[in-house]
Amino acid sequence: MNKKLNHKIFQVITEVADEMKLETYVIGGFVRDIFLHRPSKDIDIVTVGNGIELAQKVSERLKNKPQVHVFKNFGTAMLKYKDLEIEFVGARKESYQSDSRKPTVESGTIEDDQNRRDFTINALALGLNAHNFGVLVDPFNGIKDLENKIIRTPLDPDITFSDDPLRIMRAIRFSTQLGFEIHDQTLRSIAKNKDRIKIVSGERIIEEINKIILSEKPSVGFKLMEETGLLAIIFPELQKMKGVDRVGGIGHKDNFYHTLEVLDRIAPFTDNLWLRWSAILHDIAKPVTKKYVEGQGWTFHSHNFIGAKMIPEIFKRMKLPLNEKMKFVQKMVQLHMRPIVLSEDVVTDSAVRRLLFEAGDDIDDLMTLCEADITSKNTEKVNRYMRNFMLVREKLKEIEEKDAIRNFEPPIKGELIMEIFGLTPCREVGLIKDAIKDAILDGIIRNDYDEAYSLMMQKASELGLTPKTIQ
Ligand code: ATP
Repeated sequence: MNKKLNHKIFQVITEVADEMKLETYVIGGFVRDIFLHRPSKDIDIVTVGNGIELAQKVSERLKNKPQVHVFKNFGTAMLKYKDLEIEFVGARKESYQSDSRKPTVESGTIEDDQNRRDFTINALALGLNAHNFGVLVDPFNGIKDLENKIIRTPLDPDITFSDDPLRIMRAIRFSTQLGFEIHDQTLRSIAKNKDRIKIVSGERIIEEINKIILSEKPSVGFKLMEETGLLAIIFPELQKMKGVDRVGGIGHKDNFYHTLEVLDRIAPFTDNLWLRWSAILHDIAKPVTKKYVEGQGWTFHSHNFIGAKMIPEIFKRMKLPLNEKMKFVQKMVQLHMRPIVLSEDVVTDSAVRRLLFEAGDDIDDLMTLCEADITSKNTEKVNRYMRNFMLVREKLKEIEEKDAIRNFEPPIKGELIMEIFGLTPCREVGLIKDAIKDAILDGIIRNDYDEAYSLMMQKASELGLTPKTIQ
């Protein structure tokens, strides 16, 4: 294990810490990840004394003397060395009052510092002074919890969670990322203290949720959030997807579990957070569009359109970006039924061209989402859909090579139509433009200026328009 501390940076820290007579440790996630054989580039150094001075002296001793970023308010300093990010902090003792979110912080011993850590596996420390170099300090038996794959708070969980309720989300995030179980008492305390999450900023919460979503099996985290009552507080729209209504013995599928299945199914195919968010949100409007229709069964009319419309509010509340990433998710949600409808029917060129036109460069992501969306237990049905999807993909490739429809720009623009017929923006311009676009997408004319020009003339004359100038 000392091999992991072989890195030059640790030798330098040891030399400087010994010269300054500062008791110093490497602590937290970096130590945990050594034992888990996970790569880690973030190193947290804690010293019983002034962390900022230690960082400055360490920097002077390193090649190129990397810049030390000091965060005075937090008493921390950070420097980058090679591909590592190293943070220095003085050991501290925190005490919280129930009426304030902000702890009072004073300097403390290494034990004090370990007491304020979130989980036993994150409280491990290795000595960095020459006399105890690499010696483990593990007051809460974190190594045993690592071996048994347990997430447990170092102190009474009610205290740990109440002091900083973000730790509730962190417990669920680590459990999901590492595949660890949350200890019984810790889990019960999460459910008990769930309402405390309301005092945590949305920005801190979404960071944890996004880490859950980017895990190998994100459903683990969402199920834990649901079971502990957190989901209803932070993501009520997803909570509403849970459950099955019945009319005359006919039920629909449980859309919460279906959504989680789609999310897990898409995970191996993409690390794109926004495509994974699209999986979470693709059916988000099912609860509000749900209707039982006699003779037809359960229907969810326009849930794709309504779902896309719900997204800005959800993104805003959850502190997700309101930019092109959101627009991408809206597009995925809106189009998510198109490939499947297409594959149920005879796959015509014209339908594929239209899909390609609307999805543009996002067509591959859309196909990935739709393939993940097939979660039927009926293997015959799944196989049939998959075969048809392969056909859709082949056709997409074929048509793309032939017609270059992706990012398609119509060969005749509105301005030209207005100029030729002496029009200001009006309904007729739109009708002519649509007629050209439809004719190209339906394969009636080619994506070509002259063919589009003739069609424009024909359509204009049907509308009773005559050219103002001869082009
Ligand atoms: P990751 O890098 O995957 O987020 P990490 O454990 O390194 O995992 P950081 O957020 O970088 O997570 O935190 C570093 C260490 O700081 C943790 O291992 C833990 O000891 C401590 N820590 C971080 N956040 C908290 C918190 N909210 N409460 C208590 N201790 C915390």
